[in-house]
Amino acid sequence: MSIGTQDNPLRVAIVGSGPAGFYAAGHLLKPKDRAVQVDMFDRLPTPWGLVRAGVAPDHPNIKAVSRVYEKTAAHPEFRFYGNLEFGRDLDHDDLARRYHAIVYAVGAQTDKQMGIPGEDLPGSWAATEFVAWYNAHPDYRHLEFDLSSERAVVIGNGNVAMDVTRMLSSDPDELAKTDVADHALEVLREARVKEVVVLGRRGPAQAAFTNPELLELGEMTDADVLVAADDCELDPLSAESIEGEGRITPRKNVEILRDYSAREPVGKERRIVLRFLVSPVEIIGDEKVEAIRIVRNELHREGDGSLRPRPTEQTEEIPCGLVFRSIGYRGLPLPGVPFDENRGVIPNEGGRVLASAGGEPIPGEYAVGWIKRGPTGIIGTNKKDAQESVDLVFEDLDAGRLPEPEDPDRDLLEELLSERAPEHVTYAGWEAIDRCEREKGEPHGRPRVKLCSFEELLEAARERVG
Ligand code: NAP
Repeated sequence: MSIGTQDNPLRVAIVGSGPAGFYAAGHLLKPKDRAVQVDMFDRLPTPWGLVRAGVAPDHPNIKAVSRVYEKTAAHPEFRFYGNLEFGRDLDHDDLARRYHAIVYAVGAQTDKQMGIPGEDLPGSWAATEFVAWYNAHPDYRHLEFDLSSERAVVIGNGNVAMDVTRMLSSDPDELAKTDVADHALEVLREARVKEVVVLGRRGPAQAAFTNPELLELGEMTDADVLVAADDCELDPLSAESIEGEGRITPRKNVEILRDYSAREPVGKERRIVLRFLVSPVEIIGDEKVEAIRIVRNELHREGDGSLRPRPTEQTEEIPCGLVFRSIGYRGLPLPGVPFDENRGVIPNEGGRVLASAGGEPIPGEYAVGWIKRGPTGIIGTNKKDAQESVDLVFEDLDAGRLPEPEDPDRDLLEELLSERAPEHVTYAGWEAIDRCEREKGEPHGRPRVKLCSFEELLEAARERVG
């Protein structure tokens, strides 16, 4: 019986419910001439991945993208199973036995390390931990951030660095109108951070942040932005690259930074200092962070044409009590699934999972999003990326390359889940959590008050679904 018909629907498991997973589900469920069932699994009781746990609370417009995912979830052949961990409650073979195709959409679940002395001192954090904490990710709610020092240093020039800088420099009364985690708001209200220094290892023309995020810093009510004029002087290689490549973002970033460097600070309560061409070499302190030693860099052209930093002899110490390394996320391996340690991704070709980097495709297995291409791009990037992988699913289906699962029955899956993970959360359970959070937020004019622990989330799901 051909796959993708009413009698034998194409059964697809998606592991991970962030943007990439939802775009993949949307693309899979779109063709009118194919019968497709999508079951999505997530280890959290809540969907949306980094849209819920990564996007900064003061960016509600970006979070509104979840409305697109809600439409996908409303499809009659879509199911969500949350609070269910791949590798613990269900493993690779369980899925392979039940689905024609598995799509891995697990993102990049940890952070990169700098590999410098002092990196593990108290007060030195991964920006990703801070982000997950202020966004109420249940795994991070117990972290204790001591924000009593006056200067924090943020390492890295990406959009996460911009988010963390804004969160540290915002007026807590403004944040109180958002869905920031209550535990974070409490700590941010007591914070004494007066200056955030952001360190870029390359120059302004190579910064990874995008124009709107850089502009936002200059619009903050509570913080002056400072950039030294010297830091906006482009070296000949950067000037040449900015002219030659014709990319708008770096050119505009440089313009914005020049504008900042011409501004006089107006004495706002906090300061954001953007510095370029400096790398951390050591975090200093006896029992906790007391300072960071940095080295001045110069740029040189690599064989592949890119401009890379090279340290000079010139070093400097910046006293500070907090360091946030914001130098990128990194993917983690999944049990029973190939992993490319070098790149931190599932080895794949256009989304088809390969047995090893450069190896043969594994029939019926696909990757989307950050675990496919690495932690780059904005939310919308995942739409096209997921389309590429889903096109391959259909191509493999039409070419007869998909394996025939032994137990493709959805009811049997639900029986198994009730046995293995009786506390799993369905989409109705998530809708109950969502209603509960929105109701809690409403009297305070907030979009929602997030439930921060597994217990609270599961209780809301249980009680309201009945
Ligand atoms: P990112 O954009 O890759 O930026 C990482 C930054 O860290 C780069 O400036 C990089 O410099 C620097 N870096 C890497 N290793 C370093 C080291 N050892 N020492 C010093 N600096 C180092 O990563 P991200 O900020 O984590 O963001 C991840 C993705 O999410 C990005 O695509 C981002 O645009 C997206 N995002 C978007 C938004 C938004 O749209 N508002 C918000 C958050 C995140 P080099 O360039 O020199 O390597």
